[in-house]
Amino acid sequence: MVLRKEAMFFHVILTTSCNMQCRYCYGEAMEDVDEDFSGFDVDYSLPPKISYDIDWLRKFCEKDNDCVLTFYGGEPLLCPEEIMRIMDEVKVKHFMIQTNGLLLDKLEPAYLNRFHTILVSIDGNEVLTDYYRGSGTFRRVIDNLRLVRRRGFEGELIARMTVMEQTDIYEQVTWLLNNRDFSFSSIHWQLNAGFWKNDFARRDFERWSRDSYNPGIIKLAKFWVDKMEDEGIVLRLYPILGIANSFLHKGEKSILRCGGGWINYAIQTDGYIIPCPTMWGMKDYYLGHVSTLDPSRLRKIHLGEPCTKCEAFNMCGGRCLYAIVTKRWTSEAYAHVCKTVTNLIQAVHAQMPRIEKLIQEGKVMLKDFEYMKYNGCEIIP
Ligand code: SF4
Ligand code: SF4
Repeated sequence: MVLRKEAMFFHVILTTSCNMQCRYCYGEAMEDVDEDFSGFDVDYSLPPKISYDIDWLRKFCEKDNDCVLTFYGGEPLLCPEEIMRIMDEVKVKHFMIQTNGLLLDKLEPAYLNRFHTILVSIDGNEVLTDYYRGSGTFRRVIDNLRLVRRRGFEGELIARMTVMEQTDIYEQVTWLLNNRDFSFSSIHWQLNAGFWKNDFARRDFERWSRDSYNPGIIKLAKFWVDKMEDEGIVLRLYPILGIANSFLHKGEKSILRCGGGWINYAIQTDGYIIPCPTMWGMKDYYLGHVSTLDPSRLRKIHLGEPCTKCEAFNMCGGRCLYAIVTKRWTSEAYAHVCKTVTNLIQAVHAQMPRIEKLIQEGKVMLKDFEYMKYNGCEIIP
């Protein structure tokens, strides 16, 4: 496998606090982590807010000016002063932010408009988003997104959906693409699956993934290519786009597509570097400290079994390092997640002859399938 020299990505965790109480938020993750956390040594006492010297971050990034920083939390916009200071003092290739969107109006346009990408959490239409994220959330986020565009933000705005049993994936994705409130052109989604210890037994994931989600993905892949055929548009539906991109670059093998632990890392509020933001506090995975490390010398974490023995590995890449190492779901339960992965791959594969024909005819271009990898869209939901 040939690895290109690519930019490195770092999630800068500014705070562990959040101004929301979603059904699957970071705060709940903190509550879920108990003494039964699969035998891992976890530091539960991380500073609630970025506590290391920002000059260390400046020096760290100076060693690799090509790196991309993504502000992350908790809710990163609870720390506007720190965001502005970092953007003033740290030289990087791009800044991005992953936010729940409620405080986007509080950041001055001079900073907001410098973001290459804003990933905003929204789960679909108003009823669904408010069900998952609390009453009134949808309106506030949509109002802020309109404001952000009015204030001149021209970068990519990605709707980041968390999906689970109440989500009809086809209905919600197509709604986000085309509605009167705010239509997105970039959408990513992630399954809430394999992240919590005891939820599989009380949930209906198996039936939902089989009867609703998987058929919805097949329908969505067809819809995606219909759109190319009818309008010459390649929508940025990241899970589908990422897989199609790999099929178009035949022979390209993927490793963990989120980049976690090999090209995409996270910096905790205390300055320790971890493979991904979800692995906060897991001391066995501390890779060093921002004050002393050189980004290019960061250790890479590689997945093991079952992924390395899986037929889908070259295309899937392993889905999620956190889920694989923590084994929050049993292998029987996780097999249903893997079925969603193979279904996604097959759904896109079935559409490839149509896509290749459209490229040959010049209706769409190969470059329409390019995207910034590791931008916070994990590709494999
Ligand atoms: S489908 Fe499942 S087992 Fe196979 S590589 Fe992906 S996550 Fe690993
Ligand atoms: S997919 Fe898993 S390993 Fe990758 S960033 Fe998300 S939680 Fe971390």
